[in-house]
Amino acid sequence: MQRYFASLLSKEHIKLESEDEHHLLHVMRMKKDDEIEVVANDKLFLCRIENVNPLNIYIVHEINSDVELNEDVTLLFALTKGDRTDLVVQKATELGVKKIALIQSERTVVRYEEKDIAKKCARYQKIMKEASEQSHRLVVPTLLGIYNLKKLPKEVYSDLNYVAYEKDANDVEGSFKGLTKGKSVTILVGPEGGFSKEEIDMLVNQGFIRTSLGKRILRAETAAIYALSVIGYLLER
Ligand code: SAH
Repeated sequence: MQRYFASLLSKEHIKLESEDEHHLLHVMRMKKDDEIEVVANDKLFLCRIENVNPLNIYIVHEINSDVELNEDVTLLFALTKGDRTDLVVQKATELGVKKIALIQSERTVVRYEEKDIAKKCARYQKIMKEASEQSHRLVVPTLLGIYNLKKLPKEVYSDLNYVAYEKDANDVEGSFKGLTKGKSVTILVGPEGGFSKEEIDMLVNQGFIRTSLGKRILRAETAAIYALSVIGYLLER
């Protein structure tokens, strides 16, 4: 069934965003009495179309849904070239992250001009919303912002903070041995050029745990997707 993120208009009615209204009416060509699923206030509802002009949608009942990770997972990802950041934002959403921050570090080649940041962030928001709908999530992750590695704000930190470092021993399981249910987790993945030794030392000083993702060197986007897969597995097994 078609699903949208929307807001509650009242206890009985919901309001779609205008883009979704257009999608429902002109792409899906829905009619009176057609049903949709709507996520509003982090809850899932079965809804029915009461009227199409003007569009009026009412709540039939709430649907129980348990698809979210119990623990908050945050991805910190160094900006990469081309559309790889788009890919990572989409896959991270499918894998259940609650927060994403993009990072500029010593070896990050991509730099956003101040004027482009708002546009880029809007694009990532859209990707996260669509991926959340597609993977039937109840929340759209929050994009915290774009930060310099040397000036990480406190919102990026969790109970456990991991930095993926390819120069470490190759034992993935050992790397994540401290990861237990009930603790929020942050994972930081570096740029194509990796982190410098100074950056790693600084991160460890700030409480980050150095983590291996196995004996093969992964591209940054693969590293992020793999790390989130391992974390999701460990939290849900
Ligand atoms: N340029 C580096 C590789 C960087 S890979 C080199 O050639 O050695 C990009 C990022 O992915 C790294 O900063 C790291 O965070 C992560 N990564 C890739 N493979 C990894 C691995 N096997 N273990 C831990 N982190 C890895």
